[in-house]
Amino acid sequence: MDLLTKTISLYKEMGISEEVYAFGTKILESLKERFDDIDKMAEYNQLKVVNAMQKARVGAECFNYASGYGYNDYGRDTLEQVYANVFHTEDALVRPQITCGTHALALTLSANLRPGDELISIAGKPYDTLEEVIGIRKSMGSLAEYGVTYQQVDLLPDGSFDFASIEKAISEKTKMVTIQRSKGYQTRPSFSVDQIGEAIAFVKKVKPDVIVMVDNCYGEFVEEKEPSDVGADLVVGSLIKNPGGGLAPIGGYVAGRKDLIEQCACRLTSPGLGKEVGASLGVMQSFYQGFFLAPTVVAGALKGAIFAANIYEKLGFGVVPNGTESRHDIIQAVTFGTPEGVIAFCEGIQAAAPVDSFARPVPGDMPGYDSQVIMAAGAFVQGSSIELSADGPIKPPYAVYFQGGLTWEHAKLGILMSLEKLYEAGIVKELS
Ligand SMILES: *Cc1c(COP(=O)(O)O)cnc(C)c1O
Repeated sequence: MDLLTKTISLYKEMGISEEVYAFGTKILESLKERFDDIDKMAEYNQLKVVNAMQKARVGAECFNYASGYGYNDYGRDTLEQVYANVFHTEDALVRPQITCGTHALALTLSANLRPGDELISIAGKPYDTLEEVIGIRKSMGSLAEYGVTYQQVDLLPDGSFDFASIEKAISEKTKMVTIQRSKGYQTRPSFSVDQIGEAIAFVKKVKPDVIVMVDNCYGEFVEEKEPSDVGADLVVGSLIKNPGGGLAPIGGYVAGRKDLIEQCACRLTSPGLGKEVGASLGVMQSFYQGFFLAPTVVAGALKGAIFAANIYEKLGFGVVPNGTESRHDIIQAVTFGTPEGVIAFCEGIQAAAPVDSFARPVPGDMPGYDSQVIMAAGAFVQGSSIELSADGPIKPPYAVYFQGGLTWEHAKLGILMSLEKLYEAGIVKELS
């Protein structure tokens, strides 16, 4: 048997029918150029990271264990220099004590805003979890409780920035502006770094001293530039998404202007202590190695997203982004229109996982959601969404959002398995 025959037979053993495999192969043939472009981006970003590590003189001693106060934690301080080099910023804060993306964003906002200041979101409603951080939904410890006011400028119907309304919203009180790069769980398109750059330039023209923060979650290494290359004062994200490369077990980062990063450090630890404390507790090797792998991991996830978009578009389902659009984050939405479609898709993703493949996801109630939600994830790091994962609220329009895949080969298996489940359930009747 040649390798291809063996591969097809192993797919079959794992539950992928020959029809589904053949359909996937046909779709893939049309994606060669796209994948080629993604590889070129990964090459560029891989060089960027290695160059940053060399310039920061990363050495074997960076991986040493540090405990207690963590004064002079060399590995931690050097890693922060590596992040600053990659994001082309003056400084960075990269810590396991930042527990997740929401925490990194909440930290950055609360560290740089004072009572009486105003925050404006110019990209419409921010990510769900930020509603409680800001106080859009009443919550304990929100910015609103500390006397920070908030305004939101919604996007225009076509998903672009509403410059006229942004200009009107900015006032004496405006201290910070926030822009979310990824669509999150909304149907608007994600922003390109260039679009973000235009918005920042506009905001700075209206009020030069306003601090612009970009929620960079899911966007890192998708393009050749990051928002900090086009004027963002602060970029913020989670290490269990793109920049952790699947290896970081926890963590968040903020990169940006030195004075603003110092504010973040004084809020994360304590006034007077700032960046000086916060031991890295042995996670440094995973942070470095994950960041090193991140450009190629992101490339694999992007290939998976594009593969899925093209498969489901061809089968007549709604896909955002569509099969040919340029990509600004790693998230793919597919609209099935029925609960059964959402459930079958998630079952496939789960069945393809390296961990917990035997579990069957079912819709359930979730805090903060107004409908049942189904989630599929069989991840090495709990909740990690740079690993192949999917979720969908069980309500119209019955869409799933899926992302990740530590390797393209695994993302491919997951997508074929999702199609297999839809095919077996009779939701997809014909593969052509
Ligand atoms: C995931 C995400 C967050 C929150 O990150 P968590 O790690 O889940 O807390 C914030 N904003 C966007 C756009 C995200 O995708």
